[in-house]
Amino acid sequence: MGNLKHILLLTTGGTIASVEGGQGLEPRQGVLDGYISQLARFYKITVQELMCLDSSNMQPAQWQEIARTVFQCRKDYDGIVISHGTDTMAYTASALTFMLPHIDLPVVFTGSQLPLPDVLSDGPDNLRTAFAMAASGYPGVYLAFDRKVMRGCRAVKVRASGFSAFESVNARYAAVVSNRGLTVDHSIVSHKQGVPALKDKISNNVFLLKLTPGLSTDIFDTLVDMGYRGIVVEAFGLGGVNVLGSGLEGVRRAIEQGVSVVITTQCLYDSSDLRVYQVGNKLLELGVLQGRDMTTEAALTKLMWCIGQGLTPEEIRCAFAESFAGEITV
Ligand code: ASP
Repeated sequence: MGNLKHILLLTTGGTIASVEGGQGLEPRQGVLDGYISQLARFYKITVQELMCLDSSNMQPAQWQEIARTVFQCRKDYDGIVISHGTDTMAYTASALTFMLPHIDLPVVFTGSQLPLPDVLSDGPDNLRTAFAMAASGYPGVYLAFDRKVMRGCRAVKVRASGFSAFESVNARYAAVVSNRGLTVDHSIVSHKQGVPALKDKISNNVFLLKLTPGLSTDIFDTLVDMGYRGIVVEAFGLGGVNVLGSGLEGVRRAIEQGVSVVITTQCLYDSSDLRVYQVGNKLLELGVLQGRDMTTEAALTKLMWCIGQGLTPEEIRCAFAESFAGEITV
């Protein structure tokens, strides 16, 4: 018992903690307790019920609460598992990656597609993988699902109901469960480097815009008028936008007013690269930032975080040219 790794389980709700209520599945406190007692043979476990939300209701204020709790508790544990709804887990995991630079222990998100009380739930398997990663000693923010572990800032929910609900986009898995147990990819996991910090200030004034043929360029003016300070544009393919007529005027005006515009791609895989096509180079001339191979979730939360930290547009440009925790290939 004395040698068991001490793992903190922070519960936040989600399907994994849900039961059938009057209007469908809803998270309840205490749902994980029954299963966690089965893991107690392998780990010393402390459970803290932090919140009880369907993750659709998760807001940046909750990301801050989770980040603060992780930061305050980190010295007392070998690792931390966070159970979370799957719908917005990739956003929370990405946001925490930026809020907790140089975190010095494993912080592992997990959840399930079928509630834990269901005999066929994927929750036990996902919790086992998450606890194994939390006990691995590799610091960083991760997401464990379907026997795979990925960096939190590379995770995307790709299936609404299938058990293999998350993919590690443009990055190899940090670890997988195999017949040799948890097999870690040492080139992907983090190694201790800087001083851990809590940088939890984050701005809500960032908009995610998906380009569609026919979209009015006035949308950029509307967003600036509404007070948005950052816009992530999911453009076409390698990063194309409509440049005909006055297509670029809205972007130009937004940037002139100090708004940071990040161009990513609507494609799930591979990197955007604005240098390939004329339509992309025209954007670069205006001063947009390249999202490259970042997930939309990572690009959005990184921009929210940069603006929340009070960085100037020029400092944000430098931040997007740099990888903080493996979120971008530079
Ligand atoms: N609606 C749920 C949530 O995100 C879905 C899930 O957990 O799988 O909280």
